[in-house]
Amino acid sequence: MRSRPFVAVLCCLTFVCIIFLATFAVAQPPGPNEMPSVVQVPPEAQPSTHFDATAATNAYLAQIPADKIVRSDAYFEGGYWLILWDFLYGIAIALLLLNLRWSARMRDLSERVTRLKPVQTFVYWLQYLVLTTILAFPLGVYEDYFREHKYGLATQTFGPWMLDQLKNLGVNLVLGGILVVLLFGVVRRLSRNWWIWGAGVTVVFMIVGILIAPIYIIPIFNTPTILNDPKVVDPILSMARANGIPAKNVYQIDASKQTTKMSANVSGFASTMRITLNDNLLRRGSPEEIQAVMGHEMGHYVMNHIYKLIMFFLIMTVLAFAYLNLGLAWTLRHWGEKWQIRGVGDTAVLPLVILLLSIAGFVTTPVFNTAIRAQEHEADMYGLNTSRQPDGFAQAAIHLGEYRKMSPGPFEEFVFFDHPSGHNRIFAAMRWKAENLKLFATNEPSLPQTSEGSPASTADTPAAVDKK
Ligand SMILES: [Zn+2]
Repeated sequence: MRSRPFVAVLCCLTFVCIIFLATFAVAQPPGPNEMPSVVQVPPEAQPSTHFDATAATNAYLAQIPADKIVRSDAYFEGGYWLILWDFLYGIAIALLLLNLRWSARMRDLSERVTRLKPVQTFVYWLQYLVLTTILAFPLGVYEDYFREHKYGLATQTFGPWMLDQLKNLGVNLVLGGILVVLLFGVVRRLSRNWWIWGAGVTVVFMIVGILIAPIYIIPIFNTPTILNDPKVVDPILSMARANGIPAKNVYQIDASKQTTKMSANVSGFASTMRITLNDNLLRRGSPEEIQAVMGHEMGHYVMNHIYKLIMFFLIMTVLAFAYLNLGLAWTLRHWGEKWQIRGVGDTAVLPLVILLLSIAGFVTTPVFNTAIRAQEHEADMYGLNTSRQPDGFAQAAIHLGEYRKMSPGPFEEFVFFDHPSGHNRIFAAMRWKAENLKLFATNEPSLPQTSEGSPASTADTPAAVDKK
């Protein structure tokens, strides 16, 4: 009986190898789905007395070739289905572990290895993580490797990609191991109110995780360095000083090692907080675009988005643990005996915990997306006001459209988008431009007319015109 999991594992591995070899044999990966770098501001988006934000937005969107839109839509909409498949696949794995009593058997093995409860928990975690990683591998390799290559978004060959997966497994083994040891310790000692204390431990663990990530976790996969090109850094630091941000450095990261996607982020908090631009953005973004993106990141920083997000996660974690408390009691009453799980403090309960949490996570996807998207919208507004680069911002939105659908419906955006859509971001930038043009028009009745097709530079923004 005990050899069954290993037979399954072997079958899985064979299956994976077949998929891998077959896919490799059939298709050479296509080129990247590069969105155009709009060097020229379209005529409709040039400053004028009849500037119309909608017309300017449409003119920007019209610069994207139809085939790029089709490909980007297909990539992003495929992601909707992947949310469903990931969910169902995860549920199937959890049910497999419970119903075939593999989870109970891994618990039994951990008890034979040692008498120490925390070590038993860790040994269970080791078995659980390795087994679920192998079972989840076929979908994972499709999603993160083959599919990313298919859309020209991945830059790694299989070997380095696999190495990153192993590093990820190592991080999960250590960090996940610490968390489960702590949580099962809490449940065993505080069996009445375990869910309240458990939520507390989880939130503290998450805060420490965010704090150490830029220093200890990110460098496992990539190499962040201090950005020292004065052409890029000087305007950014000037913008930081103007906004009271005590930043001395801006970081860059070699994301092109894994992906063609452009991005930037704020990571860490308190003493480890830093703003990082990825090298794809630095290589392909115009100076105006980079300033617009930096203004956005500074918005996250100045508006304390990380702290607010931690508060949001705190509330959601307490709710999740309350739900777990009820959900575990109910499911164990019905099937606990069948699955050979002795109670909430038994490590064999872990697949059931993951099953219940993934149901909650699936149902609340729009809640999390909306909470994050609301912050992203705030950062967009802050970034426009700070950088005064509406055209740079529009260009950034187009570049981000390489992996995010540009023009979704409102319901689609509400459910699936964790950032505002490209269409809405360009419109926000053009609305900003329209309103600021009006503002300057009242001070200066003869608005400077820029010739059509001038470059998307600071010269287009009234703020810069005013400076001259
Ligand atoms: Zn952001």
